[in-house]
Order: sequence, then C-alpha cells, then structure tokens
Amino acid sequence: MRYAVLSDVHGNLEALSAVLADAASERALGLLCLGDAVGYGADPAPCIELLGERSLLMVAGNHEHGALGLLDVRWFNAAARAAALWTRGRLGADHQNFLTGLPLASTLGEATCVHASPRRPEEWDYLLSAEDGFQAFGDFATRLCFVGHSHRPGVWSLGSSGPAYEDLAGPAFHDRRIPFHDGRRYIINVGSVGQPRDRDPRAAYVLWDEDKRSVTLRRVTYDHKAAAAKILRVGLPRALADRLALGV
Ligand code: ZN
Repeated sequence: MRYAVLSDVHGNLEALSAVLADAASERALGLLCLGDAVGYGADPAPCIELLGERSLLMVAGNHEHGALGLLDVRWFNAAARAAALWTRGRLGADHQNFLTGLPLASTLGEATCVHASPRRPEEWDYLLSAEDGFQAFGDFATRLCFVGHSHRPGVWSLGSSGPAYEDLAGPAFHDRRIPFHDGRRYIINVGSVGQPRDRDPRAAYVLWDEDKRSVTLRRVTYDHKAAAAKILRVGLPRALADRLALGV
C-alpha cells in the first residue's frame, strides 16, 4: 500500500487539489493528514471537506485548535491571529464538530501520526534541529512517526549505528526515495502543502510506500497566484498572500 502523507494545507485549495492529483498519479491509495487544514488561506471549509472525505486518518493541528477557540490565539502572531478569527467565522457547525472530534495523535500500521511532536502533542513543540528530533524518539512506540508543523521537510533516523539527520529542504532530495534500513526508526517531517517555508514555493508532501519500506518527498507546482489573489480578495493580511510566491 502507498500512502500520501500531508500536513499544513492551511486553507490553500489550489495547493491541495494539485497534491491530490499528483498523489493519484503516483497511485497513492491512502491519504493521511497531519493537521493544520485551516488558517492563513482563503478556503478553510472546502479544504476540511476534501480532507475529511479522503483521509484514512486525520489529526488536529494548532490552527484547528485556534480556529475552534481551544487554543488562545493571543499566542499566535498578528497575521495568524487575524486568519484564525476570520477562519472561525467561515466554519459551520458541521465543520466545527468534525474538527473538534479530531485526535491529537493516531497510529496506522507502523506509523504514529501527530501534527507537531510525539512528546506532549498539545504543547505544539517544533522539531527543527537535529537535536529536537532525536529527543522525540522516546515518545512514540512505532517504527515510524510522521510530523508536520515546521513547514520544513526532513528525516531523522535512529538505530544501533547511531543517529542520522537529513534536511530535505533542498532540490537534491526531491523525488529521491529514502529507504528504511532494518533496525532503524524514523521521524519524517512531510513539509507543508499550502504554505511551504523552505524557499521553494511548490507544495510539499511525502509518499510512504509500505511494501518498499521507503518515503519520497514530492514537490508539486500549483497556481499560487490564484491562491494569493483569493487571500487578498477576502481581506486577509497581504503578507499571507505574498509569501506563497516565495515559499517563506
Ligand atoms: Zn502549519
């Protein structure tokens, strides 16, 4: 079985549509969503509906909790706060009930799925450095753990031959298959579909091939100008539109 593992769509329907088309062409039959379906982008409701229909598994991110009022958005920066409050007004009772029911972590086969970190998921800690990732291996029991949240793709692995870290935010890694080695465990950050921040504006997601025991980072071109124009049209902060062209 092949899965598309994605995170941080952030209400960007253009990016999500392009990623789902790419995943279908790669014969990924299962979809796993690591949260932050909403926040920043102009299409929160359509993204929730599409992900809710298609995902085998979906967990909540901090932006779901912000939009639902479960997390105090005073902790968000000004643009994120404005987007969270705007998003709250776009969600019907059905959307709110669906998001409220999402777990913070879930497992499927060999994989734990969580938005930010397997250590205290509700704290929304960022796994950014090599050290951040290696400290998290004691906090999940499966062989694999998929995370998002930082919007930067990367892979940590730990085994008897020691720790290893690969920052996938570089062109050398796009479409390169990373095989799993016996006796090693992996934390895989799948990057962001709707607001990449590694200076590559293309949508990011990961293909997980359960049979070949590997992951591949995919980058997908999408119509970021259309997504940015919608953000401006609905009156969200301009910075949220401008960053899409730059991937920052
Ligand atoms: Zn996010």
